[in-house]
Amino acid sequence: MTTDQPKPALRAVVPCDPGPTCVGRFAPSPSGPLHFGSLVAAVGSALDARRGGGRWLVRIEDIDGPRSQAGADRAILRELERLGFVWDAPPVWQSRRTELYRAALDRLAAAGRTYGCACSRRDIADSAPAVDGARRYPGTCRAGMAAGRTARSTRLRVDAGETDAVVRLVDRVQGEIVQNVECEVGDFVLAHADGQIAYQLAVVVDDAAQGVTDVVRGADLLDSTPRQILLQRLLGVPTPSYGHLPVALDRSGDKLSKQTLARPIADVPAAQILCATLEFLGQAPPADLRRAGVREVWVWAAQHWNLSRVPRLRGLPAPAQWC
Ligand code: GLU
Repeated sequence: MTTDQPKPALRAVVPCDPGPTCVGRFAPSPSGPLHFGSLVAAVGSALDARRGGGRWLVRIEDIDGPRSQAGADRAILRELERLGFVWDAPPVWQSRRTELYRAALDRLAAAGRTYGCACSRRDIADSAPAVDGARRYPGTCRAGMAAGRTARSTRLRVDAGETDAVVRLVDRVQGEIVQNVECEVGDFVLAHADGQIAYQLAVVVDDAAQGVTDVVRGADLLDSTPRQILLQRLLGVPTPSYGHLPVALDRSGDKLSKQTLARPIADVPAAQILCATLEFLGQAPPADLRRAGVREVWVWAAQHWNLSRVPRLRGLPAPAQWC
């Protein structure tokens, strides 16, 4: 989608698999068992990848140590299996790929695009709100940290004059999105002082390394996408197409998550939960498909999948029984 030419020196860090046709992926964070909200992204990405005979991959995003729950990765994979998902390569775990992210960070540093930042959340609490509800980074440490302060994070110099910080994308579900990353987010964090790599960098490195061509995921990540596209340009890797699905909301209008006590779906018959997900995604499965076998549901879903039927909304109430 972007017209930026890959920069060979930076591209070397992210080996790209040219891939056959379309490559999609589901990238759950193992912070708890699979629930209706995460299933929406799994079903949407899998059906979309298969639409032209493409491949579908699973990646466990477990580099956010505190949020990861022991055993949740295996539980998610088991549940996906029970629901009839089939992935085309062994799943990868981000925690086993940290050298790849470090190498990308080193390349960005060597290109003069990063700096150490001493600011805590409190230091920037008075800054303008950022697009994702956090605070826009006011650039305090951009020209160097104040004497005696030590770095708590490494940030990306978003606009160093050579790259346009305005990102425009046409999302396949949500339509045109334009974001000035410099004004709406500011220099964002790529890594923390303890070495933990930020999601924004890891996801870009992984999508490129796995040859992902089509990202289909929840609309809660829509505001992150321009940051990811900016990083893709700087690393000289291709920009996939993006489609952001409505996020499943609980009764109070919050995103369904482990924190909002979303009901695990492990005890629900596979065809029933898959049909509820298809319904949520606007695919209108016939009523009797709920009583069919899992295979039959997937066959129907693959034949009828139509992304243009997915509601163009960032959030949508989840069926009451799964909140
Ligand atoms: N790991 C993220 C999540 O579970 C998804 C990231 C992505 O799809 O880019 O919300």
